[in-house]
Amino acid sequence: MVAGIAAGENPEEVIEFTSEHRTWLDLCFLAVDQERIPGVRFWAIKELRPLDYGIGAMDNGGGDDEDDDKTTPDKYSCPWGYEKHNGPDRWYEYYLNAKGHNQSPIEINSKEVHYDHSLLPWFASYDPGAAKTILNNGRTCKVVFDDTFDRSVLRGGPLPGIYRLRQLHFHWGSSDDHGSEHVVDGVKYAGELHLLHWNPKHSNYADAVRRYDGVAVLAIFLKVGKPVKREMKRILEEVGAIKSKGKEAPFPNFDPSILFPKSRDYWTYHGSFTTPPCEEVITWIILREPIVVSPDQMAKFRSLSMNSENEPFRPLVDNWRPPQPRYYRMVSSSFL
Ligand SMILES: [Zn+2]
Repeated sequence: MVAGIAAGENPEEVIEFTSEHRTWLDLCFLAVDQERIPGVRFWAIKELRPLDYGIGAMDNGGGDDEDDDKTTPDKYSCPWGYEKHNGPDRWYEYYLNAKGHNQSPIEINSKEVHYDHSLLPWFASYDPGAAKTILNNGRTCKVVFDDTFDRSVLRGGPLPGIYRLRQLHFHWGSSDDHGSEHVVDGVKYAGELHLLHWNPKHSNYADAVRRYDGVAVLAIFLKVGKPVKREMKRILEEVGAIKSKGKEAPFPNFDPSILFPKSRDYWTYHGSFTTPPCEEVITWIILREPIVVSPDQMAKFRSLSMNSENEPFRPLVDNWRPPQPRYYRMVSSSFL
């Protein structure tokens, strides 16, 4: 794919893009007031400001909640959250990607899924020593891992190589009948666990979040029922130590593969971070089999506060983005 953009109508300012720049391209399409010139392989964009802004926002490196990098200055970040005034319906006002054509989550309709017999099994080999801390950033509960070398990796499945584990986090609802981001045949689960990995063929994480093949997320649904997945205990025990926004506690010696369900069956598609700036760089691997949690365990997530210690308690709930249009994308399954 070759296309370009022109600043104003001056063809000398045309920048050529290839499929390497897919995220940029989608941004270009989103830039307001664009004009496709018939028979010519570029688009004239009359107003470049939103495009500049979008790329600036990307410099923060990864959806803030999917990954907030505390060392990066916050100069481009905009207030966003899950409430009416700053919720998913309004993210596009600051983050142009949010209206892209490769957004996540999506609804998976099992009748429309394409079984791909060439899809390989996936493997995770995680080093328990890579686990560092658990924290509450006011939008999710997250466990952070050391990703300075290939010590905890995901490979196989649809992935072209190994991907390094960077963090895991959860999405949940205000009650047990919703809370997941992906929806399967109309079913919303109580929660969804995301294990985020990046492709070390790119020099660092900030670079990976700009690349089409930069990030892989393994997603696992949380379903309320019995018998309960006992391995969830370790994380939920620590929730008490990170009640308010900004709290962080050591979380050593943890291998997140203990959270996996029995079946390795998965769906896969190409999509985006589900938090701003919603970069379209994610190979999703969504496990068919949920893990089972108790109503008490879900209530523990809801006991977290989206406010800081010195502010009134505000329950951190409904930190999920609703399904986005699938457009032309195909969802593949590893199973019949
Ligand atoms: Zn997530």
